Amino acid sequence: MKEFNFYSPGTLEELIAVLDDTGGRLVAGGTDLIPRMRRGLVSSDHLIDVGRISDLHFIREQYGQIVIGALTTHQELVDSTLLQVTLPSLVQAAATVGCCQTRCRGTLGGNIANASPAADTIPPLLTAGASVHLAHCCGERTIALDEFLVGPGITSLKRGEFIHSISYSILSGSWGTAFQKLGLRSGMAISVANAAALIVLDAGGKIAAARLALGSVAPTVVVSASAEAVLLGQDPTPELMRSAAQACLTDIDPISDVRATKDYRKHAATVLARRVLETSVVQARRRKSV
Ligand SMILES: Cc1cc2nc3c(=O)[nH]c(=O)nc-3n(C[C@H](O)[C@H](O)[C@H](O)COP(=O)(O)OP(=O)(O)OC[C@H]3O[C@@H](n4cnc5c(N)ncnc54)[C@H](O)[C@@H]3O)c2cc1C
Repeated sequence: MKEFNFYSPGTLEELIAVLDDTGGRLVAGGTDLIPRMRRGLVSSDHLIDVGRISDLHFIREQYGQIVIGALTTHQELVDSTLLQVTLPSLVQAAATVGCCQTRCRGTLGGNIANASPAADTIPPLLTAGASVHLAHCCGERTIALDEFLVGPGITSLKRGEFIHSISYSILSGSWGTAFQKLGLRSGMAISVANAAALIVLDAGGKIAAARLALGSVAPTVVVSASAEAVLLGQDPTPELMRSAAQACLTDIDPISDVRATKDYRKHAATVLARRVLETSVVQARRRKSV
């Protein structure tokens, strides 16, 4: 591995100063970055470890929103009652990330900043309309997660900026969410395809809001506008779920690689889409009857 200067700021102020000074690369859990550095895929003269900054490490409810600090690990997402109650699909997704060691070190901020089309936490957050809160020496800015993700491994982070936190609005009424992932093994597997859905039913049981996000089937995780158009205002019948799942094919453009062929990914996406939509409807109906 190429030599680098190592920094370990203990506060946000120190992080902002060293980042502004060096333009270095952040390391959080290191589960993505360090293997990539070892393989010579990325290098940096300055590595900034953010692990000691407690102000980036929290999950809280604030003005009708859930706000998650960038340093929150996948295991902490899994263990959070606040998340289990407000966005179960995110908990389901975090529970599938790698193995116990990966989940205990890997962070939400790292998963998002890495901008992999296969990142498991991104689909549920996209269905929830999440925002990313960025900080830098001159202030802060907030950007919608779908705008933050530009391409495979590419985000709209500017020099000197870092992810401070991620937030989403708490849902009310009859809503349901679900996440499913297909890998080559049942554990420790990068997604061949993944899918998350969010469904809100109105008082009459029709679909008032619908979001379907699919991973590993395009250069970035994709929100299917075509599926949403099929679902909105309709009765959530099994036939409708099948039509919506087929409609998502318009919005995806998978590649063939070592994990799967393009055609297999297309098929997997429609199966996962139907399953997460159906599960979300069941959850939404359950909340309605409570
Ligand atoms: C064995 C193994 C299995 C894995 N399985 C999965 C899986 O099933 N699903 C999945 O989605 N991922 C998986 N991963 C990938 C990885 O664990 C996750 O993406 C993890 O969330 C990365 O977080 P991290 O804190 O380790 O990031 P790091 O490796 O520390 O950083 C990753 C990138 O994000 C940047 N970064 C980190 N924090 C910030 C911040 N706050 N602001 C700005 N930039 C930041 C870094 O500079 C770097 O470019 C796996 C990795 C391994 C090694």
